[in-house]
Amino acid sequence: EKFCKSMPKLELHAHLNGCISNGILERVPVFDRSGKNAEDNWISHENAVVQEKKTLDLAECFRTFAKIHEVIRTPEILHWVTTQVIEEFWSDNVIYLELRTTPKKIHNIPSKDVYMEKVVDAIIECQKKFPIVVKLLVSIDRKLSVLEGEENATLAIKWSKKFPNIVVGMDLSGDPSKGVFESFVPSLVRARDSGLKLTLHLPEVANALEAEQMLDFRPHRVGHAVNIHPDLGGTQKLWEILLTSRIPVEVCLSSNVLSKCVSSIDEHHIKYMQDSGIPFVICTDDSGVFCTTLTNEYQLAANTLLLSQDELKVLTLKSIDYSFGSPEDKDMLTAMVRGWWENRN
Ligand code: 5GP
Repeated sequence: EKFCKSMPKLELHAHLNGCISNGILERVPVFDRSGKNAEDNWISHENAVVQEKKTLDLAECFRTFAKIHEVIRTPEILHWVTTQVIEEFWSDNVIYLELRTTPKKIHNIPSKDVYMEKVVDAIIECQKKFPIVVKLLVSIDRKLSVLEGEENATLAIKWSKKFPNIVVGMDLSGDPSKGVFESFVPSLVRARDSGLKLTLHLPEVANALEAEQMLDFRPHRVGHAVNIHPDLGGTQKLWEILLTSRIPVEVCLSSNVLSKCVSSIDEHHIKYMQDSGIPFVICTDDSGVFCTTLTNEYQLAANTLLLSQDELKVLTLKSIDYSFGSPEDKDMLTAMVRGWWENRN
C-alpha cells in the first residue's frame, strides 16, 4: 500500500462529481451572499450518509450521483469542489489527471458555459499550485436528448479551441439502461473530427449489440468492458473484437464490484485481459462514491494479478501512452515516472 501510494500515478477515468468524497462534502462552504448560516448547509450531512462504503447496485449509484448534484448549487461551489477533488488526487501522488464531467445548467448555475468556465478556472488554479497536469473531458450523459448531446459536443469543441491544453476529449457515460449510443454518433464524430479524443463507457448491463457498435466506432479508449468476455456475460465475437481492436480499457475494480457489475474481484475480467494482452489502465471511476483512491485501485490490481514492482512500473508507463495528453505532456510524464523509479532507493 505504502509503495503504491508513493508511486507517481495517472488517473484516466474520473467523473468530477463522483469524485467528491465525504471529506469534501463535509466541508462545502456556504458561499451564499444573502447571509444564510452554516446550518443551512444541509447537503453535507444528507449526502455523507449515502457514501458509506457499502455495496450499491447500479440504480443506487445513479441515485447517489443525483444527490451529489444537489450539492452543486452555485458556480462558486462547483469551482471549490473541483479544486478539492484535484487536491485529493494530488495528495495521492497522481501526477496526471483526466477529469470528466457533464456540463449542467442546474440550480444557480446559469448555463453550461458557466459550468465549463468554473471547472476550467479551478483546473488552471490547481495547476499553478500543485505539480499535477489536469485535463478535462466533456461528457454526454446518455440519458440526455440528442439535442443536448449536440450542445455538449459544440461546447467541447469551443472550449478545446480556447484551452487546447486542458479540454482534450469527450466521454459518453451515464445510466446504461437509458438512451441509445447510435443517436449520439453524429455529435461524437463531429468532436473527433475537430481533434478531440473519445472514450465510451461500454454498457455495464449486458447489451451485446451496443457494445459491438461502440467497439466498431473505434473510440480512443473504452470504459469498464464488463459483459464482454463469453464467460462473463459477453460473447466470443465481442471479446475478439476487443482483442483485435487494441483499444485500451479503463478498468475500475472497486466500482465494478461495489456496483455489482461483476460478482467479485476474483471474477473480474482484468485477469482475462492480462492473459490475452488487452491493453488496460487502472482507474478509480468515482473515488468519492466508491470511497477509494488510485493507490487502493493499484493495490487491488497488484493483489489480483500478483504484479511485481516492475510490472507496476510498466503499467504506469503504459497509462502515459493511453492518456489524451499531448506528445510534450507524455515526454514530461515519462521522464518523471522513469526518474522516480530510478531514484526510489
Ligand atoms: P458528473 O458528470 O456529474 O461530474 O459525474 C457524475 C456522472 O458521471 C453520473 O451522473 C453519471 O452520468 C456518470 N458516471 C459516473 N460513474 C459512472 C459509472 O460507473 N458508470 C456510468 N455508466 N456512468 C457513470
